Amino acid sequence: MADRTEIDVLIELMAKLPGLGPRSARRAVLHLVRKRALLLTPLADAIGRVAVSARECINCGNVGTSDLCPICADPQRANGQICVVEDVADLWAMERSKVFKGRYHVLGGTLSALDAIGPNELRIPQLVHRIEDEAVSEIILALNATVDGQTTAHYIADQLETRVELTSLAQGVPIGGELDYLDDGTITAALNARRKV
Ligand SMILES: [Zn+2]
Repeated sequence: MADRTEIDVLIELMAKLPGLGPRSARRAVLHLVRKRALLLTPLADAIGRVAVSARECINCGNVGTSDLCPICADPQRANGQICVVEDVADLWAMERSKVFKGRYHVLGGTLSALDAIGPNELRIPQLVHRIEDEAVSEIILALNATVDGQTTAHYIADQLETRVELTSLAQGVPIGGELDYLDDGTITAALNARRKV
């Protein structure tokens, strides 16, 4: 078997990206090599810079390039509302819809007995601290409509119910649907029609 070339290695790595398989990875790499000046070199530079600078926001868990993400660093976003999401992709989806003006809290997953993920594996203790630190008046639970997502929502509601108003995104979010797959109008409608937990 012939030795793998650098291009083979690149194809193998690209094939591990979500949404790409080996065939799409081969096509993408071929395209990049043909557009060396326009795409390949700038992409390599951008990946190199992000590899150095990417980090988690110490407050909310968003992914950015500084210790505090732009949302947590913006005093205008301290409006007393925190929207709790499972994953950074959900946060970004909410931001794309431009409907929510408060801050976020990324749990980093859901409670799961099967995978031995308990509250301390998620960012639930940090959420409890933020309620006092940031004078939070409303927690909006925007967790996915999966069994684990809803178990997690109930757990958080139990922990916080006496301390803050708790609401949850209205249905309209399909069962098992993740926020990232929803269009902006659906997210806006689900937020505006949120209800008390
Ligand atoms: Zn943040």
